Amino acid sequence: MSEQTMPNWLDQRAFLTPERTALVTDEESLTFAELQHRAKDRASRLSTLGIHKGDHIAVYAKSSVEMVQIVHALSYLGVVGVLLNTRLTIDELVFQVTDAGCVYVVGEDGFKDTLHELTQKTDIPSLSFGELMSSEARSVDFLKEVTMEDPYTILYTSGTTGSPKGVLLSYSNHWWSAVSSALNLGITEKDQWLAALPLFHVGGLSILMKSVIYGMPVHLHTSFDVEKVHDAIMNKGVTTVSVVTVMLDGLMDRLGTERYPDEFRGMLLGGGPAPEPLLYKAKEKSVPVFQSYGMTETSSQIVTLSPDYALNKIGSAGKPLFPAQLSIEVDGKRAASDEIGEIVVKGPMVTKGYYRRPETNEDTIQKEWLRTGDLGYVDEDGFLYVVDRRKDLIISGGENIYPAEIEGVLSGMDQVKEVGVVGKEDQKWGSVPVAFIVRREGTSLTKEDVLTFCNDRLASYKQPKELYFVDHLPRNATNKLLRRELANWLKQRRNVQ
Ligand code: ATP
Ligand code: MG
Repeated sequence: MSEQTMPNWLDQRAFLTPERTALVTDEESLTFAELQHRAKDRASRLSTLGIHKGDHIAVYAKSSVEMVQIVHALSYLGVVGVLLNTRLTIDELVFQVTDAGCVYVVGEDGFKDTLHELTQKTDIPSLSFGELMSSEARSVDFLKEVTMEDPYTILYTSGTTGSPKGVLLSYSNHWWSAVSSALNLGITEKDQWLAALPLFHVGGLSILMKSVIYGMPVHLHTSFDVEKVHDAIMNKGVTTVSVVTVMLDGLMDRLGTERYPDEFRGMLLGGGPAPEPLLYKAKEKSVPVFQSYGMTETSSQIVTLSPDYALNKIGSAGKPLFPAQLSIEVDGKRAASDEIGEIVVKGPMVTKGYYRRPETNEDTIQKEWLRTGDLGYVDEDGFLYVVDRRKDLIISGGENIYPAEIEGVLSGMDQVKEVGVVGKEDQKWGSVPVAFIVRREGTSLTKEDVLTFCNDRLASYKQPKELYFVDHLPRNATNKLLRRELANWLKQRRNVQ
């Protein structure tokens, strides 16, 4: 059977709607025709450097027009892009570019020193975008088609539960991700999506894919700035924003008693658990929030709460997107309604596997079903509720305790800015929950206040047995809470005592 192909996406888009806006930043606005022209220029330059079909190149940049151009340039050469998180340490960068088998690293001009250091440590040549632009551009044969099963990107998982793994995502994965989202949310002529999540993250990258496939403008922000995002929604025609909880929290505070324009369609919320108090806050302000569940391995969302249910199934991540399937498994068997087990998913947006990880692939992907490592349950109407990571489950006196539930409750206290909960070994109970709290500036909060609050809301075995007030919580480059570091800290403390 011959491999399935499509016209190159940017070529097709620039052919169908050349004058439509593709990208909007503070500095400039680009049509699809202009983007195509520039992406092809970058592709020629990369090719002239000796980068060929099938090669892996790392891209080390914050969200920028140049980065978008490079991502599209890859598709003209059949080159796989390894998009690096710019908050990684040098050792983490060295690991990823080596692990992913990169032959080149290109990055933004402001990161020249790091690029240089990376080359010194790995022998992999590197080039800044500026240097690329002053390099030679010979004419090359661009690929006119994309081969759907070919890999397009390798994105590393956040490394929340262990060391990051390189996820291979094909054109087909990205295609189905964009199309599935459209089948759920619909597409309108007025749609303009704001990307304040970094493009090296699947949540950000998937917006770019939607843009070229739908023919939709993307407002690109280099970093998340509450004021700028607020302004883009209020005054610049943005209809949809992809957010994680901290962003939504900041935006709701900024909104105050104002209202978003009627054209605003909603916030696509993903990346982690959504505390219910925050969802209620958004509801009070009539801001539609589309809760979603997904991961790097599923090219972003795979389960989303459709707008129809956004308010009456609050707390749920929704139902699988049209071409996807979801199952909850307990001891290898399908769980009953409301029974908690591992979330297992299947669909055309799910990766075929991690790069160079045959054993992990065998363990996690069986017959195209991906074991997510997350726990959840499905209610009798088929809605998914994500409970927590399987690795973080606390078993106390035979009862299961999910740290996220306790974190969710504590985050409902006005004085709590951030909270992390982990299990601590205990002679009597096996393990007990311990909470780490960062107080909001200018507030006072005592252990007694917290315990009184918990008394009304959590069964006694779920109430934190120890409480620590801290200045900040350990987070990875994606800003996700590293519970394993909190647990290690507790272990070390015990050893010292
Ligand atoms: P690693 O796999 O390296 O440990 P990671 O899982 O944090 O890192 P990502 O792919 O960035 O890497 O994150 C996906 C994870 O985020 C999911 O597996 C899940 O644990 C969490 N997540 C995503 N959406 C939700 C949600 N709606 N509710 C709760 N957790 C979520
Ligand atoms: Mg993961």
